[in-house]
Amino acid sequence: MNSASNSERVAFRTCPLCEAGCGLAITVKNNEVTHIRGDMQDVFSKGFICPKGSTLKQLHYDADRLLTPLIKRNGVHVPATWQEAWQVIETGLSGVINKHGRESIGTYLGNPGAHNLSSMTFNRVLLQAIGSRQRFSASTVDQIPKQVSSGMMFGSVSSVPVPDLDRTQYLLMLGANPYESNGSLCTAPDFPGRLEAMQARGGKLVVVDPRKSRTAEQADEWLAIRPGTDALLLAAIANTLASDGLNVLEQRLHNYLNGLAEVVAALAPFTPEAVAASTGIDAATIRRIARELRDASSSAVYGRIGTCTTAFGTTASWLVDVVNIFTGNLDRVGGAMFSLPVAGSGNTHSAPGRGKGFRIGRGHSRVSKHPEALGEYPAAAMAEEIETPGDGQIRAMVVVGGNPILSTPNSQRLAKSFEQLDFMVSVDIYLNETSRFADVVLPPPSQLQRSHYDLALLTFAVRNVANYSEPVLPLAPGQLDEWEILAKLSAIVSGAGIETDPSVIDDLAISSLVQSAIKDSASNVFGRDHQELIAELSLSGRRGPDRILDFLLRTGPFGDGFGAVPNGVTLEKLIDSPHGIDFGALEPRLPEVLRTPSGKIEIAPPQLIADLARLLLTLKNKVDESQLTLVGRRHLRSNNSWMHNIEVLVKGKDRCTLQMHPDDASRLGVDKDSKVLVTSRVGSLEAPVEITEAIRSGVVSLPHGWGHTMEGTNTRVATARAGVNSNILTDEKEIDPLSGNSVLNGIPVKVTRISHN
Ligand code: SF4
Repeated sequence: MNSASNSERVAFRTCPLCEAGCGLAITVKNNEVTHIRGDMQDVFSKGFICPKGSTLKQLHYDADRLLTPLIKRNGVHVPATWQEAWQVIETGLSGVINKHGRESIGTYLGNPGAHNLSSMTFNRVLLQAIGSRQRFSASTVDQIPKQVSSGMMFGSVSSVPVPDLDRTQYLLMLGANPYESNGSLCTAPDFPGRLEAMQARGGKLVVVDPRKSRTAEQADEWLAIRPGTDALLLAAIANTLASDGLNVLEQRLHNYLNGLAEVVAALAPFTPEAVAASTGIDAATIRRIARELRDASSSAVYGRIGTCTTAFGTTASWLVDVVNIFTGNLDRVGGAMFSLPVAGSGNTHSAPGRGKGFRIGRGHSRVSKHPEALGEYPAAAMAEEIETPGDGQIRAMVVVGGNPILSTPNSQRLAKSFEQLDFMVSVDIYLNETSRFADVVLPPPSQLQRSHYDLALLTFAVRNVANYSEPVLPLAPGQLDEWEILAKLSAIVSGAGIETDPSVIDDLAISSLVQSAIKDSASNVFGRDHQELIAELSLSGRRGPDRILDFLLRTGPFGDGFGAVPNGVTLEKLIDSPHGIDFGALEPRLPEVLRTPSGKIEIAPPQLIADLARLLLTLKNKVDESQLTLVGRRHLRSNNSWMHNIEVLVKGKDRCTLQMHPDDASRLGVDKDSKVLVTSRVGSLEAPVEITEAIRSGVVSLPHGWGHTMEGTNTRVATARAGVNSNILTDEKEIDPLSGNSVLNGIPVKVTRISHN
């Protein structure tokens, strides 16, 4: 509900730009956004907002944002009608399918889709309609290791424990920088404020990071680890706890563990002394941290991007929770807990406490035989799947809200491979480094023209909250909602034809969801009549993602069950609560959260135990002090590659610099005015140097998402402040073998001075 006076009104909306999900109060006058500030009454964010939140206005009015479809004619993108665009797509995709089969269509889903209700509800429909296993996404340059380890341990990839930030007294944070990122796989608006509140109540924050990030600066202790060795550190912490005796492991947890003796035995070689040289953290410190974690009144270990984007991303992610278990803090107030998402998730459906479990490798990629994880293959394998002839070679790509040319490894090779595609469709608001390859670009509406609910991110929230936002601005005449675009694409690729109304696909989507729920004996609508539920859902006249969301809410853990649960939540209730509804702090969920076949926590999944042997081998590698390794970094005003066309976010001094420790700079003859050549196995680039003590010696850092220098794009602000693309240096051959995640941190590089700026 919006407050209004004459032609001015204030609309309340959740910010969809990052995982924090802050509430915004958006002033609209005569249908023009005039002002955006934090919503002081938002139940979760209470007025907090970062510099990006208010730029939804600039994003909406960006002159480079696409308003009509584009079709490539004679190598140049020109505006087209929707009808023309659908016709070209039908001809292009059906031509490829008829000649090469459905496996020849690849898909890439970008990160913004995780913050987008249309994508969250209709991307799956599109993937099913395409019917190809050649699926890729931003997950494999991001968080997939944590989901794989959680799936193996708890039986559902939705069961990612999050630190109970508001109640913990000790937080060990690895490879995360929420002062810049605002948090990830831990939805917590004003993450920094929550950390400061922990410190104010006597709690301790320890940050493990090769860089003294803004978060590390605020920490009580900073451990400057060598890149890529988080798994070793965590193994040694777990080893210490096990060697001391796991007396704090209450019966509560013991009852739910499968494989405790096995994991303790497998961790035996990883003593603090054994890992000290490799990690760069001395044995006494490792032991002290382990014991502090155990002895704190409550504690949590939290690992994020720097832990995930390494060769041992899944193993490190698993060890985070092994330590949380060994300190007795899993599923405990102040420890690492499971959210109970209001709209449901993989760990609220089906019978509680036991399930089919999770596994990887239900298929393997065609060229390098990477195992499938979460229904997709590594983004790092996309280029070889496009280049390599044979059955299943990718001949066409459908990219939704993604820019893999900038955001995935060895981007020069990937760009070359995209040149040889027979056909490509992009759904994107910009003509960017990836959509410039597309034969057709389909523009979704701006973030302010869409309804919103954080379906994915509230699965990892530090409180159980729900917040729905109506569109702030209407669609322009003839403009399509994003779900309509995705539904139409689904109809075309499935062969139903371009005249198919998106509502037909929408009806099929909701019907299939209802069918599943009424067959689920644990659902609050088990055994109900399909038509009756569809009719009730349709009473509001809402369609598409909103109708699906209403169903998910009503059948979720707090839902009304279509009348079965008095006062249960519905979409209408959320609409009447524009600042959201707070369902309270997290509560222990063991054992009902489990979906493993054993009904226990699998603390020793065979593939992860086996991976410890690979980890052990790294201890034999002699530490080469002269080898520089590259890591990434975040900035508060940046959001991967797609927010660089907003002047207010990119103005000021160049942030796309190679950070280097003074000792390394001196050794290489580099000073603050130098430009350097950075070379890895796969490529080289030139970058200005920033010499800083806030980075470990032997490590250099470049931010990602930059490099807006390519021909054929139309993002003028970004091009004027192009920066360099760090993924020219990242290596597509280096991945975490279990999850397929790219190694983006710890890339060996050579740096040489080339000039003064
Ligand atoms: S922290 Fe994230 S959700 Fe909050 S205002 Fe900033 S970008 Fe938006």
